[in-house]
Amino acid sequence: MSYNTYIGASIEKRVAPNIPRRSCDFNSIHACNNESCYSCTGRVYSTLIQHLNNDIAPTDSDGCLRGSTLQKAVEQDRKNGFHPCCVIATFGTTGICSFDKVEEIGDVCQKESIWLHIDAAYAGTALICPEYRYLMKGIEKVDSFNFNPHKWMKVNSDCSALWFKDTTHVEQLNTNREKPINKSSTTPEIQLWQIPNCRRFRALKLWFVLRINGVKGLQKHVRQQVGLAKHFESLVRSDERFEICTSNLGVVTFRLKGLDDLTNSLLERIHQDKKLFVAPYLHKQKFVIRFVVCSSFTEQSDIENSWNQIKNHANKIVVPKRKRKGFSATRSLKRNVNLNEAKMKS
Ligand SMILES: *Cc1c(COP(=O)(O)O)cnc(C)c1O
Repeated sequence: MSYNTYIGASIEKRVAPNIPRRSCDFNSIHACNNESCYSCTGRVYSTLIQHLNNDIAPTDSDGCLRGSTLQKAVEQDRKNGFHPCCVIATFGTTGICSFDKVEEIGDVCQKESIWLHIDAAYAGTALICPEYRYLMKGIEKVDSFNFNPHKWMKVNSDCSALWFKDTTHVEQLNTNREKPINKSSTTPEIQLWQIPNCRRFRALKLWFVLRINGVKGLQKHVRQQVGLAKHFESLVRSDERFEICTSNLGVVTFRLKGLDDLTNSLLERIHQDKKLFVAPYLHKQKFVIRFVVCSSFTEQSDIENSWNQIKNHANKIVVPKRKRKGFSATRSLKRNVNLNEAKMKS
């Protein structure tokens, strides 16, 4: 299962024209999203839009939400008397950086009159490189799109960039009743595109990053980071004890072959050592470790150093195939492994 979302912003116009304003029964409105997306999305539904139902749509084996799955969910909802109003598709999920099929989902949303928002928090930065733009096929069918330059575009936290295809829906949410919408103004009334009327000023730091690095500099940064992740992937692949589970942009997930307990104890050892920060994730019912390249200062030597640490920890769990010279602890290791296996079986 995975989660990609339906929400209820300008519900009455665009999404559920037959629900009267204010008297709308929120229990009948549905939101839906992708599981490997981000934990906060779920919390948004349970706190901000308390009464809105949030559905989790299953994804395919690559962790992507497909149009056909969404279509079925929408039909089921309508049959049950619900009003699907918004889909939040994920462009680069937090767990494995998978990409929902925007084009397929967009077709369903257009046909069913459902707002389509894209959460591209991390991976949105990659779109600065033309070679990754194929991933955003169908973007013209999207109503709103958000990415966080503070995640991967060298801007310090926080800075989120949000685009609307048509801002009039959002302007209608204007909570500042004293300030009517100025139809004749040619400057966008940005303070009306949100619930509060003011925000901290983030445009300048974004502007500085763009000016200092330039498009070329940012492209180079993305390519370098993806290259480092690929380098890590190849190091993991070179060791028979390991398997790569996913590898997308700067996010690589891997595990020790065999029982989950092996990978789990590897993770425990890495955490106890406190030198490397990696996180666990459950992918296709298997325990995996996420390795993410995200600091602007990461270099090839850091990747190699990280891999050596992981390998050394793994040596304490699974004996390396080829015995290395001076590797004298083999016998006690074997005993440990046997003990571990016995523990797992019991
Ligand atoms: C990280 C992430 C978020 C949240 O980002 P913040 O930095 O907390 O604003 C949302 N969605 C996805 C897919 C993410 O990876």
